[in-house]
Amino acid sequence: MTPPDEDSLIRKDVSALPVPPNLADYEQARASFRWPAAARALSGLPGGSGLNIAHEAVDRHAQGARATHVALRWLGKDGSQRDFSYAGLAAWSARFANVLDALGVQRGDRVFLLAGRIPELYMAVLGALKHRCVVSPLFAAFGPEPIFTRMSIGAAAVLVTTTGLYRRKVSALRERLPQLRHVLVVREEAGEPLPVGTLDLAALLEDAAPQYRIGPTRPDDPALLHFTSGTTGKPKGAIHVHEAVVAHHATGALALDFHPEDVFWCTADPGWVTGTSYGIVAPLVHGLTLIVDEADFDAERWYDILGREAVSVWYTAPTAVRMMMKGGAASARNRTFARLRFIASVGEPLNPQAVTWGLEAFGLPIHDNWWQTETGGIMIANFAAMDIRPGSMGKPLPGIEAALVRRTADGGVALLAEPGVEGELALRRGWPSMFRGYLGEEERYLKCFAGEWYLTGDLARRDAEGYYWFVGRADDVIKSSGHLIGPFEVESAFMAHPAVAEAGVIGKPDPVAGEIVKAFVALKPGHAPGEALRRDLLAFVRKRLGTAVAPKEIDFVAALPKTRSGKILRRLLKARELGLPEGDLSTLEPGA
Ligand code: AMP
Repeated sequence: MTPPDEDSLIRKDVSALPVPPNLADYEQARASFRWPAAARALSGLPGGSGLNIAHEAVDRHAQGARATHVALRWLGKDGSQRDFSYAGLAAWSARFANVLDALGVQRGDRVFLLAGRIPELYMAVLGALKHRCVVSPLFAAFGPEPIFTRMSIGAAAVLVTTTGLYRRKVSALRERLPQLRHVLVVREEAGEPLPVGTLDLAALLEDAAPQYRIGPTRPDDPALLHFTSGTTGKPKGAIHVHEAVVAHHATGALALDFHPEDVFWCTADPGWVTGTSYGIVAPLVHGLTLIVDEADFDAERWYDILGREAVSVWYTAPTAVRMMMKGGAASARNRTFARLRFIASVGEPLNPQAVTWGLEAFGLPIHDNWWQTETGGIMIANFAAMDIRPGSMGKPLPGIEAALVRRTADGGVALLAEPGVEGELALRRGWPSMFRGYLGEEERYLKCFAGEWYLTGDLARRDAEGYYWFVGRADDVIKSSGHLIGPFEVESAFMAHPAVAEAGVIGKPDPVAGEIVKAFVALKPGHAPGEALRRDLLAFVRKRLGTAVAPKEIDFVAALPKTRSGKILRRLLKARELGLPEGDLSTLEPGA
């Protein structure tokens, strides 16, 4: 591997890679790839009774040669460690499925998870999938409002959480969630009393049988519900089906270059789609050892884990890479990462400096890849055997047809075939992990498509060699430390404060987090801007939204710029904040 040359190309020498890559020749792999063949690489449920993610991820390994192989190594915040073999994980998830069964939870019922990265979360995800429930993981850093909105849209029947999270964030919502029948809690402190209205998960698991026969599961049965945000309105619950596992498996091989003896660490939280598709499903389907770290980001701890746990494939995010870069490459160079052979990143633009920092720190470049909640799996990637153009997201996966398009007035799209032309990134529908709807919002779902094309909401361009380059979002959603944040959800939280007349929220560029959430607030008559009110407002929204979503900055303004139809012009707020041209103001309300 050579450092970037003048054309900023990191060349790959395939013969020098430590293992032969799964995708050695990109064009040839694209020409020969077929989704039906990819589906045949999986086992399917015994007796031809369908396809179930949990069977592919654990049971088939537990019944075969991988039974004693470590499936999941859990690293506790306090330095403790727990290993789960495939047989062990199959048994724990079977127990969880039996717990659901005993509680009368039915196929299709929604099981929500609100917990940090604790072992029970992994048992619950896999067990609920076995019981053919629909799993919806939430961020533990969410405040009560985002939790309530998502659980009510999703009609949560079961919640798995911890005693502390329940007390702090859920108990006060309980009356507003009439469909929530069972709350299963993990004790944060040994022996502490259980909150009223909850059940002790540990005791239920202990009493449940460790075998469970998965019932017939159709490939298009719903399996996962991942919430994402749009510019307006409530969060959208993207529905994914069991067949998505075909894409998790194929993309794990092609984009992350999984090989059977890999130790894989995905640093994403399961509250985000990456932490489920690649933080649970894909590596287990491949029979790998998956590392799960309970603790939050800490550069020294991460270097330790990469070395000590002999991680061979590492999937992380740009914000984390930039935080490690701040500490310099020396920390990494003083250590050995004997088995590390492939690093990938997703979720936000990965700047060229971060790609090449990987070379300095680990002797390996960082491979950017692109996808989103709706796509369910990696769509565009830099592959192990392909030269890297730092700053580019790479090329579409085999089986994925991407294009750049311009929306036309008749609701269709025009394809922009010329290299270098900026357009909206579109994907031809039909890959197995494609979302099948936004829960209860058919119209919003249909709006994402123009004929055969799924429109991603991202702007990009493609160069003459076929590499895709991210340009920005076509809408106002904010990406902060990898979290997609809907400005409307944040603005609504401000509106609940008695002093606020209106609020407009934007993403403000930040060198580490990509963007931070910034709010502009106009006050009601009788309220004066000031430091005390700013602090009060920050605390007010943080309590409601949680730290992952709440703004970092607030500016007071006399009024917000709006269109004649009354929509807040966030684009203009942002342009003014950044000192950029204000663009077309023809729809601006006079006086704004
Ligand atoms: P989410 O649905 O939360 O995973 O967010 C998906 C969005 O994150 C995409 O639509 C992009 O705007 C952004 N994103 C994901 N991966 C990348 C990447 N490699 N480069 C730039 N933006 C990305």
